[in-house]
Amino acid sequence: MTTQPPTPTTTSTPTDADRDGGRGLETDPAPDDLPGEPPHACAYCERPFAREEWLALHRGLEHADRLSDRERAAYERALESEEADLRMFRLQAIAVLIAIYFGFLIVYAFVA
Ligand SMILES: [Zn+2]
Repeated sequence: MTTQPPTPTTTSTPTDADRDGGRGLETDPAPDDLPGEPPHACAYCERPFAREEWLALHRGLEHADRLSDRERAAYERALESEEADLRMFRLQAIAVLIAIYFGFLIVYAFVA
């Protein structure tokens, strides 16, 4: 009984030692913005991106002179999507600013 130590504790010790070493985190170049998605690396400068749209935007901005037709089309699609997102963000920011302005105006009208 006492000659056989419990095996689960001995097998779990190496995995804990590996996690304490943290070598897997050091060698992983993936950005931790989106942990589930694999990184997309640029074919020209090997810079990793978490999203394929960000890679397409990077290629269009940094390597515009040597893009293929497919990469240029992907860049233009990503650019249109990015501009639509920016337009929506500006509208939301203006709506928040207007709400804050009139909120303070109403508070001022009742307090002063
Ligand atoms: Zn690049």
